[in-house]
Amino acid sequence: MEVLYSSTRDGEKKVTASRAILQGLSEDGGLFVPDHIPTLSATMRELADKSYQETAYEVMKLFLTDFTEEELKGCIARAYDSKFDTEEIAPLVEAEGAYYLELFHGATIAFKDMALSILPHLMITSAKKNHVDNEIVILTATSGDTGKAALAGFAGVEGTKIIVFYPKNGVSPIQEKQMVTQKGDNTFVVGIHGNFDDAQTGVKTLFNDKELAKEMAAQGLQFSSANSINIGRLVPQVVYYVYAYAKLLKEEKIADGEKINVVVPTGNFGNILAAFYAKNMGVPIAKLICASNENKVLYDFFSTGDYDRNREFKLTTSPSMDILISSNLERLIYRIAGNDAEKNAEMMAALSAEGKYSITQEMKEQLADFYGNFADEKETAGRIKSMYEDTGYVLDTHTAVASAVYQKYVDDTKDQTKTVIASTASPFKFTRSVMNAIDPKYDAMGDFELVDELSKIGNVAVPKAIEEIRTASVIHDHVCDKTEMKAVVKQFLGME
Ligand SMILES: *Cc1c(COP(=O)(O)O)cnc(C)c1O
Repeated sequence: MEVLYSSTRDGEKKVTASRAILQGLSEDGGLFVPDHIPTLSATMRELADKSYQETAYEVMKLFLTDFTEEELKGCIARAYDSKFDTEEIAPLVEAEGAYYLELFHGATIAFKDMALSILPHLMITSAKKNHVDNEIVILTATSGDTGKAALAGFAGVEGTKIIVFYPKNGVSPIQEKQMVTQKGDNTFVVGIHGNFDDAQTGVKTLFNDKELAKEMAAQGLQFSSANSINIGRLVPQVVYYVYAYAKLLKEEKIADGEKINVVVPTGNFGNILAAFYAKNMGVPIAKLICASNENKVLYDFFSTGDYDRNREFKLTTSPSMDILISSNLERLIYRIAGNDAEKNAEMMAALSAEGKYSITQEMKEQLADFYGNFADEKETAGRIKSMYEDTGYVLDTHTAVASAVYQKYVDDTKDQTKTVIASTASPFKFTRSVMNAIDPKYDAMGDFELVDELSKIGNVAVPKAIEEIRTASVIHDHVCDKTEMKAVVKQFLGME
């Protein structure tokens, strides 16, 4: 059955998947959502024997219904190849009774690679299908990981340019080095004086700037997005939840039909929304456990039904979750409002005007499958240390937030359901915070000395992504104010 996409703020207009991917964000500022969530056509038993690539096809064909089999399989083959350092693509590692779904085996060692290694191929295919001749300009705000993953995906891709804005003082040293050493004539990286929310809001404003769009069109250019507001990011993320369940079944860790819980360290609410979509496709998932760091706006939302971003923005050791405006929550709000675009648009208008909104009791009742909690900085560091001391397994800071929240959940509920924890980054990406958590004495070491020490104590080889930046030279050193983003974009595109 065909799936069409409409905006969370306007129920009227419907577009095909390829159109939604090309456009990124709807003209009215809303996010594209599927008109229904398709049900898996293969059984979990059948999926158990499939490779990651085959599973990806089984899932994505149900959402991207205007792609031909050949197109979609081509995109999948080009995405999930030797850029990943394991044929499994997303291996499951058991530690202390939970299953860590390692989503960091791609080119930039964070889970963003899972979707951003395929998005450029989906985008190019979408442009061809729709006879779009314009050059596509990917405009991206990053809290650290999306930027590099998108740069790696789009660098050198003909017919595209990519511009990344990151918070100058809000990313880890390794994250920054990964981005500013990016090669490729079509890439542009800019640090902004501001935080991730400023970058994301600035990017959304540029998307909605009708005048700018007109000027760009005159020069044969159009914007699209590599952020998780693009449905082409979300759909590939559904795949690994299906894959994880099928693998647990294959390895006889669970019985057919047995429910599992899923824990996701959350920032922009994209990854956990993908898990929610997987559940709605028929994957036996019981609880969706949303783990936040000290920027716990989502925990408060799940506890009270009030979303309130009016609070201090905290810089934590899990910077990719330092977010107060979780964009993808809008897709959930729309759904629990009964797919009511008008009601959702009202709440989003309140969010942008007053920084807050409240959902109704009726909507709140539909959130029963979600559980929210948070881990503070001390709990996160403590989790890295105790896991390392007990098992030798080294968690990154984001995964440690999830793991700490999972412990709180089990303490709270005594729920013994088998659990998959999304492991969203390699510890090598956050070496300093990870090593300091294990022993503060490491703080005296340099960034790459720490990398070698982590490799030694964790007994894991240094990932290629880190070796590459060890000696790489800085190519991008632009910094701007958050009010200058438009000017910077025009300059890069040669429009001034
Ligand atoms: C982006 C990111 C997250 C948060 O994911 P969302 O989809 O934004 O909720 C968590 N951990 C890491 C390492 C990330 O890069």
